[in-house]
Amino acid sequence: MSTNAATHLADVQARVAKACSIARREVADVTLIAVSKTHDAAAILPLLEAGQRVFGENRVAEAADKWPTLKALYPDVSLHLVGQLQSNKADEAVALFDAIHSVDRPSLVTALARAMDKAGRRVPCFVQVNIGAEDQKGGCAIAELPALLEQARAAGLPVVGLMCVPPADIEPAPFFALLDKLARDHGLAGRSMGMSGDFETAIMLGATHVRVGTALFGGR
Ligand SMILES: *Cc1c(COP(=O)(O)O)cnc(C)c1O
Repeated sequence: MSTNAATHLADVQARVAKACSIARREVADVTLIAVSKTHDAAAILPLLEAGQRVFGENRVAEAADKWPTLKALYPDVSLHLVGQLQSNKADEAVALFDAIHSVDRPSLVTALARAMDKAGRRVPCFVQVNIGAEDQKGGCAIAELPALLEQARAAGLPVVGLMCVPPADIEPAPFFALLDKLARDHGLAGRSMGMSGDFETAIMLGATHVRVGTALFGGR
């Protein structure tokens, strides 16, 4: 198990480095987020032992169960929320996470800004964009992005970038290119895009954060 996880991590790191090299980008400018949702502490520990420090979870309750113990062992872990967030969990999310990738609506901007003020803790946020204009998908519509960013700035929410999950089963590159353009248009440095199946493409198109689960942990 341990060897296996370390091998997977080394493999993904090598693929990240290769994509960076082709794109003439610095490896240090791409953060690998190990998405550990559904995997227990026993599966996560080998990656921690191998030096991985940035992890992603998609549910507040699951992260609250697993991570306080692991963070006590590895205090320099950085935990990113990559899944949808309910406004009534904003306080808990602000206490637990070091970055939030799923800000996608005015009520959540308000709740997070209030939670951060209350906690005296600024958690960097990404605004999630529904980049393929899909029904039933998280993320704000492209047309609503300027107003949401304006609201976030006015509320003092630290927005560092944009995030997307492109439509499944079609070529993701145009959607990554579009997110990159939107981030540039709005003067945002962060681009959270790319998962196990497409992180190299995302890096070549400007990803600063790739969210990789299956390629590190195996299937869920
Ligand atoms: C699960 C998840 C990932 C990781 O997906 P893999 O295909 O397993 O790499 C990335 N981003 C989000 C938002 C996820 O929910």
